[in-house]
Amino acid sequence: MADKYMELVNTGMTKKLAKLLGLPRPPRLRRYGETTPLLPGPVLVLGSSARAQELSDTLVSWDLDVRRHDAGDAKLGGLVLLLDELTHPEQLSALMLAAGAALRQLVPGARVVSISRPALDTDAPALAAVRQGIDGAMRSLGREMRGGATANGILLNEGTDLLSPGTLGALRFFFSGRSAYVDGQFLTVRTTEGALPQDFRKPLAGKVAVVTGAARGIGASIARTLARDGAQLVVVDMPAAGEALAAVANQIGATTLQLDVTAKDAAQQIMDHAIGRHGSLDIVVHNAGITRDKLLANMDAARWDSVIAVNIASQLRMNEVFLAAKLPGLRVVSLASTSGIAGNRGQTNYAASKGGVIGMVRSSAKLFAEQGGSIAAVAPGFIETEMTAKIPLGTRTVARMVLPSLMQGGLPQDVAEAISFLGSDAAAGLNGQVLRVCGQSLVGA
Ligand code: NAD
Repeated sequence: MADKYMELVNTGMTKKLAKLLGLPRPPRLRRYGETTPLLPGPVLVLGSSARAQELSDTLVSWDLDVRRHDAGDAKLGGLVLLLDELTHPEQLSALMLAAGAALRQLVPGARVVSISRPALDTDAPALAAVRQGIDGAMRSLGREMRGGATANGILLNEGTDLLSPGTLGALRFFFSGRSAYVDGQFLTVRTTEGALPQDFRKPLAGKVAVVTGAARGIGASIARTLARDGAQLVVVDMPAAGEALAAVANQIGATTLQLDVTAKDAAQQIMDHAIGRHGSLDIVVHNAGITRDKLLANMDAARWDSVIAVNIASQLRMNEVFLAAKLPGLRVVSLASTSGIAGNRGQTNYAASKGGVIGMVRSSAKLFAEQGGSIAAVAPGFIETEMTAKIPLGTRTVARMVLPSLMQGGLPQDVAEAISFLGSDAAAGLNGQVLRVCGQSLVGA
């Protein structure tokens, strides 16, 4: 239905009619393809910063056409704003207005990325003001973008800079079609750890990855995406989903493990299978999840407890076992949800479980880092799957259209791309992040 509507409002006579009637016309998003260019046109780098020239040289080595000054006529595929050395809000205007002047030159699917530093409680007031101000400005800019273009930001913690692997990894992620449904978001580069891949088309080459709940929906898409990116896959799901699981495995040369993730020995079974069959366990994606929606006034123990058991308690138990096993360099990526950030009517149980994932990820970051690993979460917004197909049509249509700039739900692939990036070595310095893949659907966040 979403695709049909998009087709109608973007082609031929019906496009003209939709324009005339003022109907919302969701843009086609620029998604990743192995042979598509990193950006759909030249990139303009505005602002000065230590190592800006080296950054430009790196962008050139990525086959990008880099401009350091706006000639005012060229079409642009990307815009990078270097804001990390600003010390007072009054310094913002020159760069933000220069960015504003360049916005009309952006082609559909373009990317704007700011690079700045996080505001700290220990910063001087003016410094904290400009840094936090950039956060507000970029989130607002995200809502003003058109034609499927997005605006996101990278925050550099002390000790990291423009050339840190995490900065370059995040920049490539934001530039590429992998971030099609990520808008108005920030990634923080916390450490200088990590490494860019030898081959950007196979960033997970040599890795063994396990995806739970992989028989359908987002999990199946994650498994396909990690396999495309070079990983050897183990796909996990309930015995009842065995046939669908085998079909996914056959497509990507994966092995299957039929398992309820709430089983007490789930982690041990996963380790035994991955290490026994494939020699190591490098990436775990905790994707298996359920909803049992009811207003709290009508909630029963079975609904509440099953959601907590599958969506968070199982992950806590498994992570403990993985940590105790000291698997070197293990990267864990969990599925949170925007419901766990902003709340959602009828989902107190689900939001408790997904808020729980966010708390778990933040507090576990140091534990995984001690073993050279990392943990992160992706918080999807409205993604078109069998789970969201259960939402009544009217609510679903409104949910798609109210998104300010992208005007559509995301696809499982959009979530999968973010997970593949956060599970890669390039994202090691981003340990502990929660990245929303939501088309900026929440008001105010
Ligand atoms: P889905 O219902 O289509 O698929 C979930 C899969 O998990 C199914 O194959 C199911 O059999 C499996 N599963 C459930 N319980 C299990 C268990 N105990 N052990 C093993 N496997 C189990 O759901 P989806 O929409 O693809 O969602 C995947 C994840 O993304 C979930 O964690 C969900 O909460 C999260 N999420 C989805 C959306 C969305 O819009 N669809 C939004 C935010 C978050």
